[in-house]
Amino acid sequence: MSYDVIIGLEVHVQLQTQTKVFCGCSTAFNPQAPNTQTCPTCLGLPGALPVLNKKAFELAVQTAMGLNCEIPLFTKWDRKQYFYPDLPKGYQISQYDLPFSRNGHLDIPPATDGDTPIRVRILRAHLEEDAGKNLHDESGRGAGSMIDLNRAGTPLVEIVTEPDLRNAMSARRFLEELRLLLVYLGVSDCNMQEGSLRCDANVNLHVHGPDGTKIPTPIVEVKNLNSFRFTEQAIEFEVARQWEQYQKTGQTIHDAPKVTRGFDPDRGMTYALREKEEAADYRYFPDPDLVPVTVTEEQLSLWRSRLVESPASRRERFRQEYGLSLYDAQVILDQGVLFADYFEQVASQTKDGKQAANWLTQEVQRVLNDRRWTLTEFPFPAPALGHLLSLVSTKKITGKSAKDVFNLLVEGDEPEVVTSETIDATIAERGLALVEDTGAIDMAIADVIGRNPKAVQDFRSGKQAAAGALIGQVMKAVKGADPQSVRERLLKQLEG
Ligand code: ZN
Ligand code: MN
Repeated sequence: MSYDVIIGLEVHVQLQTQTKVFCGCSTAFNPQAPNTQTCPTCLGLPGALPVLNKKAFELAVQTAMGLNCEIPLFTKWDRKQYFYPDLPKGYQISQYDLPFSRNGHLDIPPATDGDTPIRVRILRAHLEEDAGKNLHDESGRGAGSMIDLNRAGTPLVEIVTEPDLRNAMSARRFLEELRLLLVYLGVSDCNMQEGSLRCDANVNLHVHGPDGTKIPTPIVEVKNLNSFRFTEQAIEFEVARQWEQYQKTGQTIHDAPKVTRGFDPDRGMTYALREKEEAADYRYFPDPDLVPVTVTEEQLSLWRSRLVESPASRRERFRQEYGLSLYDAQVILDQGVLFADYFEQVASQTKDGKQAANWLTQEVQRVLNDRRWTLTEFPFPAPALGHLLSLVSTKKITGKSAKDVFNLLVEGDEPEVVTSETIDATIAERGLALVEDTGAIDMAIADVIGRNPKAVQDFRSGKQAAAGALIGQVMKAVKGADPQSVRERLLKQLEG
């Protein structure tokens, strides 16, 4: 017998607003003292009224647009009622039957060149407020539990996928692509340590029956996965556990309700949680304190016009326009929008994407890491690097000299901003310009051949490596010679 794995994700993303979604409190509550970033509204005091933060709504809509969702012109707010100490009002303001967006998709990029992307449909994305945080004393000394409401009322977009994922690895790669998109859109910092992106995974199996039928096993929701690795591990664990469970009990989706489980990263295992309420138990109803939101087509197209190009589209362009491998394109995209912009500026100037990618992912990144510079602090603007790389491709200097110039110009505590002029001056000063005097090179080659009969004989009897020593001697004799052209001219003389 065998089975398919069926996975759907619910992802909560904290939007990057200055203030909370229904009040004016600051969202910069880390590392503020507990319960200082609060007001009557987010504390749920009687009589306090919520007012929608327009910025939160705009960021939410841009998120949905990035996910290729439909955006209805009318949306409303609902109360999701449950009792838990971190929820001071006794309900969460959320969206039930008329979310602000639905029916989108996000493609998981191919893993290697030649693969095709995998489409994951987005069922809906809705806007809601976050709850507070329970702090449990685990010392066993009976200090009890405390509540910090600083986070209560922070704007969250909840993104719900269709159950289109078929294994733990794709779930992880979907989350990575989602995170990249949200960071590019600038809607969230997606800091997983601080809980800006949290994931619940719904997992079950479709066991292949004897007559070709598919038997769905009970659905398990693994809650609050706060890293990509944990999400992958939790799903892998669940698949094995559910398969064992099915073989033991034969239980299907019809015999058992959906249950929730937590994940313990230390043991790499999921564990049973309290039973979850069904939608009916939440007694959703429209929030009478908030007016529904209507938007116009004009408003939507204005917001659409402000969207940046998606990572998926950039990835494809980097491959098509600049000839990058999927791997190189991804390395550049992962460094963020500014780095990708920088790459494009250099590559479009030099018309050599591969060379630009190599330089960015090796030299530039090394310096940024060593010096702890952001790209805005980096003293080598894209046009200057483009100029330097063009000198290499037109054989005015060697690749080695270019690296020397590059390193020289970024040295020091506060190096000056590099220009084409400073690059040219440095090359002249150091005598790094390539010698194009082929006559001088040929004379040096003839001389070296004459002085090294042994190496010449070795080469002629098939030892390719013998040429290396000869090239080295010619290079020493003619400073600034292009090693590539020395090699070509030497081989010509040896073979001639
Ligand atoms: Zn507040
Ligand atoms: Mn939610």
